[in-house]
Formats: sequence, structure tokens, C-alpha cells
Amino acid sequence: MFNEDDLIPISALSHACYCERRYALVHLEHEWEENQFTAEGQALHERVDVEHHESRRLFRQEYGMAVRSLEQGLIGKCDLVELWYTDGGGVNRVSPVEFKRGREKESDVDRIQLCAQALCLEKMLDIAVESGQLYYLQEHRRVDVSLDKDIRDKTQALIERIIRIREMGKTPVAEYEKRKCDKCSLVDICMPKNSGAASKKVDRFIQNQLRLIKNGEGKNEEAS
Ligand code: SF4
Repeated sequence: MFNEDDLIPISALSHACYCERRYALVHLEHEWEENQFTAEGQALHERVDVEHHESRRLFRQEYGMAVRSLEQGLIGKCDLVELWYTDGGGVNRVSPVEFKRGREKESDVDRIQLCAQALCLEKMLDIAVESGQLYYLQEHRRVDVSLDKDIRDKTQALIERIIRIREMGKTPVAEYEKRKCDKCSLVDICMPKNSGAASKKVDRFIQNQLRLIKNGEGKNEEAS
């Protein structure tokens, strides 16, 4: 069971799934830089995060619903939760819906975020949440997501990884990956090309040059 102060924001899972260093920069070092992608995502969530609800008979939509689970160690907000009721007033089905600015991604990042919301809803409402939906606004479509064992295991593994990084209190070293880093809003703070594997290459080059100079070979090499 987690303390209130130790709960992991569900948004942290998205950062950690994208890049563990990004998670640490945002959540341990409190660095944050907006770029076009994050600003558009933020604007979208501000529009849908306003708490309100819409209901019809036996069906209700809760927007901007706060969720948390002390057992899972998670806290966050669902863009939308859809609830179906029995005639007797009990909840018989729950489905979280997460709004996304862009297109469906290959990675599990959005599914993990949805799964974390479902884990909280299960504890709060004492009901199994078997599926949810991701609504990609650019494509104007909702994608059904089965919250099966595979995605639950991945979500749990990521929670444990975050706890481990938090306990170590150390920001992971950057490893430049064009696909990720060129879109990352923290690229100017992180400077991935100057650290990690890239910086090791530079270090090796400098060490080699120093060794050559020390052995009196540097000049010959330059001249050749
Ligand atoms: S720039 Fe790359 S390594 Fe650095 S935080 Fe972003 S994704 Fe991670």
C-alpha cells in the first residue's frame, strides 16, 4: 500500500514509456519544456479535463474524472469515463476513454496510460474493467483497447521501473535515438548527442588523441 505522497502520476508512465530519462527529467529534476506536440496535447486536455457529466437512462459519461489507487500507487485524471448501470442502480460496466491529439502509435504508451486509469477505476468502483478506448482526434476515430494480461503486465513492469528509478534518485544517461529525441520537447535540456553513447564516442576519441600526442604520434597522424 502506497502513501499519498508516493503516488505516481499516471502521466509519468507515459513519459517513462517514451524514455526513462524523460521521466526523470520531468518528475525528478522538474524540467519541462513545451514544444508544438506537448502544447497541442495540453490544450486538448484542458478542453476535456473540465469536470462535468452527461447522462441518459442507465448510461453516464463523466469527463475529467479524478482517479487514484493506493494499492497500485497511481493517481491521475481520466479524460472520460463511460458507465453503464443496471435497473437497480448498480454499475455493471465501466470504460475509460483517453483523448489523443495525434494518430495511433505503434508503441504501448497510450495503451499503458489507459490501463493505469483502468487499474484505478477497478479499485475505486470494485468492478473489473475489461476494455477502454483511445480517441485519436486527428483520425476522428475511437480505437477499442483490450485491457488484457499482456498490457497489465507491461503497465505493472513500468510502475516497478519508475519506483526503482525514484529509489535510485538518479537520472538515466541519454541515449540519442533520432525517432524519439527529434520530437522530444526536452531535447535542448537533455542534449542527448552530448551524453550517453555519443559522449562515450567523443571521450574515446579524445583519449585516443591524448595517447597519440603523448606517444609523439599525433603530429604525424595530422600531417598524413
Ligand atoms: S531527448 Fe531523447 S534521450 Fe533526451 S529525454 Fe528526450 S527522448 Fe529521452
